[in-house]
Amino acid sequence: MSIEGVHLLEHLQTPAMMIVRGQVRFANSAAKALLGAHIVGQDVRIAIREPRAVAAILSDEGGSARVKGLSTGGSVWEVDCKVVGLYERLVSLYDLSERVSVAKSHADFVANASHELRTPLANVIGYCETLMNPKAGGDEGLRNRFLGTIRHEAQRMQALISDLMSLSRIEAVKHEAPSDTVDVVALAHEVAGEFKGTMEVHVRANQSEAVIAGDRGQLSQVLRNLIDNARKYAKPEGPVEVSVEAASTGWVLVTVRDEGEGIGPEHLPRVTERFYRADTSRSRAVGGTGLGLSIVKHIVERHRGRFDIESRQGIGTTASLMLPLKGE
Ligand code: ADP
Repeated sequence: MSIEGVHLLEHLQTPAMMIVRGQVRFANSAAKALLGAHIVGQDVRIAIREPRAVAAILSDEGGSARVKGLSTGGSVWEVDCKVVGLYERLVSLYDLSERVSVAKSHADFVANASHELRTPLANVIGYCETLMNPKAGGDEGLRNRFLGTIRHEAQRMQALISDLMSLSRIEAVKHEAPSDTVDVVALAHEVAGEFKGTMEVHVRANQSEAVIAGDRGQLSQVLRNLIDNARKYAKPEGPVEVSVEAASTGWVLVTVRDEGEGIGPEHLPRVTERFYRADTSRSRAVGGTGLGLSIVKHIVERHRGRFDIESRQGIGTTASLMLPLKGE
């Protein structure tokens, strides 16, 4: 590559440099933004302090190396070196940070899900083995108690699998705009009705209807999860207030408010993370999976809405979602 040709690198978004005899002869703007303008003229061992990348650059055959922390602390870059002349090397840098972090969060997710399944499964196996022992299994009272526990643990796994399947279904359609015509006021009454006889749920609306383009099944799951959280963590019998307010700004605000103990401020920013629980033993005892609010958040995002949760300890919790109303 001629030294004039090297200036074409300036048009690339990717950081690129020309190294001649181990020295940075040219760096495009992206490379200078990443490594500093001072690298031009510098020895490559100073410009990139990573030994494996330097070894690839100085070798006769070129190659590539992964480098951590070139831009921000957690960043991961690939330094790729092509031999373009006896002493000339073309070095390009690719930011792999996002790919690496997506891969890591997938791996974490699978590890978490497996861990969540392993505990109830180990309990089921343990209780079955005890029941197979004629001494324990022969005692009717004990047998019934153990069978009850086995059923409870199996139901926990069932709830977890059903939430995992919901998450994956939501993930699969996340780029498709939802297209059902949904009246949020009617939907709120319908979902509140499912709790009739078990808990007190009031629905209040400022208009007789609030129509949005949505996914009916997913939106009812949002309301069901939020009301169910009030049942599980606030008061089992309620009251819960669901409010639907359509505004002239083109948005509808839906809130679900309870009068429970609330969520501590240290937990609040994290409750929508997968498997995050403010109180793990309580969540497990009431059949929580740690996925309910993360499902809510994903559904609201698919609807191009916003989800927020506020809580005052000792007073209660309000979960709110803003959704765009359907245009005329
Ligand atoms: P889970 O399946 O455990 O209920 P969620 O994602 O629905 O998971 O909620 C995450 C955590 O947030 C719960 O484990 C609970 O500690 C807390 N939480 C959620 N809703 C409420 C609420 N209305 N009142 C108090 N705590 C709540």
